[in-house]
Amino acid sequence: MLPKNRARGSRLLSLAAGIVRGMKSVQPEVFLVARPSIDYQAFADYLHQVGGDSWLEKLDRGDLDDAQNLVEFAGKICYRSWEPGLNPNISRVRTDQEQYLTQGILAQLHGSVLEHASFSFVLHNVSRVATHELVRHRPGVAISQESLRFVRLTDIPFWFPDWASQDEELMKRATGLLEQMEEFQRWLADHFGLDEPGVKFSEKKHKTSFMRRFAPDGVATGMLWTANIRTLRHTIEARTDTGAEEEIRLIFGKIGELMRAEAPVLFGDYTVTDGAWVPRWRKV
Ligand SMILES: Cc1cc2nc3c(=O)[nH]c(=O)nc-3n(C[C@H](O)[C@H](O)[C@H](O)COP(=O)(O)OP(=O)(O)OC[C@H]3O[C@@H](n4cnc5c(N)ncnc54)[C@H](O)[C@@H]3O)c2cc1C
Repeated sequence: MLPKNRARGSRLLSLAAGIVRGMKSVQPEVFLVARPSIDYQAFADYLHQVGGDSWLEKLDRGDLDDAQNLVEFAGKICYRSWEPGLNPNISRVRTDQEQYLTQGILAQLHGSVLEHASFSFVLHNVSRVATHELVRHRPGVAISQESLRFVRLTDIPFWFPDWASQDEELMKRATGLLEQMEEFQRWLADHFGLDEPGVKFSEKKHKTSFMRRFAPDGVATGMLWTANIRTLRHTIEARTDTGAEEEIRLIFGKIGELMRAEAPVLFGDYTVTDGAWVPRWRKV
C-alpha cells in the first residue's frame, strides 16, 4: 500500500493523464495470417506410388489454390479416384476441380474433407462481446485470446458503430464514462503500487485480474482464431445472419470476403444479401 499523500499525488497525475490522453476509438480488424501450404513434391512422391501422377500434372498450383487442392486431394484419396482404372469400381473420375469440389463435395455434403484446410486470423480490436460469442463455436477451431489477467489495461479501446458515433449526446456520455473507467484503471494500478520495484509477477497478475472486472464488455482486445473450412462455412453463415450481433457480423463479413478470395470455389456458393452470407449448400 502506498502512503496516502503519494497515492493522492499520483491520482491527480493520473486524472490529468486521462484528460490529455482521451478515449481510444478503434475499428475491429481481421488479418489472415496463416493458410495451408502444400508440399507438392511429397504429393508427387505419394501419387507416383499409387499411380495417380496424372492428377497432379493437371492440378492448378496457383498461389491461392493450396486449400482447394488439399481438399480435392482429401476427397480423391477416399475413392482412389486419381484417374480411371485405379479403383476397379470406378469407371470415370471428375477432372475439373470446380466441378469436383462443388458437385462431388459440397453438394454431396461431404464436409469432413473440408476439415483438412485451416486458416488463422488475428482478430484485432474486437470486443469481449464478440469474443464471448465466437468461443461458442467449438469443433474445428483453435483459440489464443489476449489475457486480461496478464495484460494490464492502461486504456479502454472501444469501437463505436457509425450510428452511435453520429449521436452527439450518446458519444459525450459514453466517452465520459470510458475515460472515467480508464482513469480508475490507472488509479488502481497506482494504488496497488504495481509499478513499484520488486513487485512479484504473481501479485501483478492477481491485481490485474481484479482490475479487468472494471472494464466493460466492449473493451477492444484481440485473439488468434484458427478454423477449418467446414467450421468457416458454418460460422460465416451463422454470424453474418441478420439476427446476429452487429460487431460479429462485421467481423465475419470480413472473414467471408477473405475466404472467398482464398478459396473461391469452396466459398463460391454464398449469396450475400444485406450482409448476410447464405450458402447454397448449408451445413456440409
Ligand atoms: C443469431 C444468434 C443468436 C444467438 N443467441 C444466443 C442466446 O441468446 N443464448 C445463447 O446461449 N447462445 C446464443 N447463440 C449461440 C448459439 O446457441 C450456439 O451456441 C452458437 O451459435 C454455436 O453454434 P453451434 O451450436 O452450431 O455449434 P458449433 O460449436 O459451431 O458446432 C458446429 C456444429 O457441430 C455440431 N456439434 C457441435 N458440438 C456438438 C455437440 N456437443 N453435440 C452434437 N453436435 C455438436 C452441431 O451440428 C453444430 O451445429 C446465438 C447464436 C446466433 C448465431
